[in-house]
Amino acid sequence: MANAKTNVIYSFSAEHKPVAEIASGETLVVETADCFNGQVHSEEQDLAKVDFSRGNPATGPFYINNANPGDGLQIEILEIKLAERGVIIVAPGQGVLEDITEPKVRVLELAGNFARFTENITIPVRPMVGVIGIAPAEGSVDTTCPGKHGGNLDCKELSPGNKIILPVAHSGGLLALGDVHAAMGDGELAGCALEAGAEVKLRIDILPGQAPEHPRIVTEKGTIILASASSTDAALREAAREAVLLLAEEHSLSYAEAYMLAGSVCDLGLSQVVNPLKTAKIFVPRLV
Ligand code: CA
Ligand code: CA
Repeated sequence: MANAKTNVIYSFSAEHKPVAEIASGETLVVETADCFNGQVHSEEQDLAKVDFSRGNPATGPFYINNANPGDGLQIEILEIKLAERGVIIVAPGQGVLEDITEPKVRVLELAGNFARFTENITIPVRPMVGVIGIAPAEGSVDTTCPGKHGGNLDCKELSPGNKIILPVAHSGGLLALGDVHAAMGDGELAGCALEAGAEVKLRIDILPGQAPEHPRIVTEKGTIILASASSTDAALREAAREAVLLLAEEHSLSYAEAYMLAGSVCDLGLSQVVNPLKTAKIFVPRLV
């Protein structure tokens, strides 16, 4: 099956052969492997024997018929069905602190709305997609990295009910996704969240001629701009610039007027700070 978690890629590139063709308006269910490709499944496991060289498998790529460069590819996340168990690991060099000396694994049951971390602590389950992207304008980008093409954005608003819009750079877009989290906090500061295999139900639509500069998530309350760069400061500036331009365009304002408005209504945050590029997010509310 084209949408099976065995059909995976480890980079986003126009060179990959599509596994299936999808029509605009079509609904699709995609099986995704967890970020360890299912290799970590026991708390007693020796992590030294796990092959981490192939992280973040993304199922696909799917060729979207009639998607052309300059179009926006809108993907609505309709539903995420999680596997029965999720995995968290910490390991030396991992995450913001990089101070872990011994690797550790936790395997948690995902039966309900909460995952039990200890007898007294539960983690609220809020499924989201970590990796979703299309072929970048140039070359090949590893699935561990985010960018204008999407990829490892690790944004917790990539959750059911929301839509992401990506800028199509090659015919067919070449969509792939993976790295679902049962729960993740902003920043993913430990470099790992509650990782889980999943089935993701999507609806795909082409927005002709509406390619955004950076990936955008559309929620019930507004738009989130996602920009990735080598530092969080640079990522925040890129996201802020596009947020101001979006306000100016949506409300027919001058750049200066939109900038004034942005300081009063936009919320700035970080999706993740643990991938090769850091991802900032700025929420632009729907104003009336
Ligand atoms: Ca990730
Ligand atoms: Ca992950």
